[in-house]
Amino acid sequence: MKGKQSSQNHGASSGNPLVQSLTRLGQATRAVALDEARMLGLTPIQVQSLLFVQETKPFATMVGNLARLLGATHASVVGTVDGLVARGYLVRTVAEDDRRVTLLRLTDDGIRACVRIREQSKTLDQAVSAMTAEERAGLDRGVGALMEQLGEGGYAWLAHSCHGCMHFQRNKNPASETPHRCALLQVALAEDQLDLECPEFISGTRTPR
Ligand code: SF4
Repeated sequence: MKGKQSSQNHGASSGNPLVQSLTRLGQATRAVALDEARMLGLTPIQVQSLLFVQETKPFATMVGNLARLLGATHASVVGTVDGLVARGYLVRTVAEDDRRVTLLRLTDDGIRACVRIREQSKTLDQAVSAMTAEERAGLDRGVGALMEQLGEGGYAWLAHSCHGCMHFQRNKNPASETPHRCALLQVALAEDQLDLECPEFISGTRTPR
């Protein structure tokens, strides 16, 4: 009985049962992340940092964006990045089009670490796979709507692929190795860059010119 009361009250910050469930879900996913990261000899923040660099458009891998994703201060993220650079997983590089901008890149060891992270990160995958297709679709819609709300308040990192972005111009230069174009950032995009995340995404369709 004591244990039950404790689990009912622990971390609950609202009388709304859904908010309480979300709070507990956050605690559970943090516990999973901690466990899985520990088995790799990393912290959850280091894991998220490496995956951020791998999953984000190459021109958007600034420390500032990583800080937005992690909801952490710039100074603390610099410390995390310094640690990953010292371990040989990340390097800092100057952006080709703007020498004031520093971008993060994975080294070969960093890429191998990401492979190990994905092999290790099975707990949530298995839990989601155990849900029905209908439950997954409902959760996907609900989480998406919640993330949009939290993102508007600056509490969530809202990054998407180019698909469905109003700035995306498909096949602007069909003969090129980078046939697509971003009208906002004025950069050419290769096919394999489209699925990487970008914080500048805006949903919509661009009027063709
Ligand atoms: S702004 Fe849109 S089109 Fe441009 S890179 Fe980002 S997601 Fe892709």
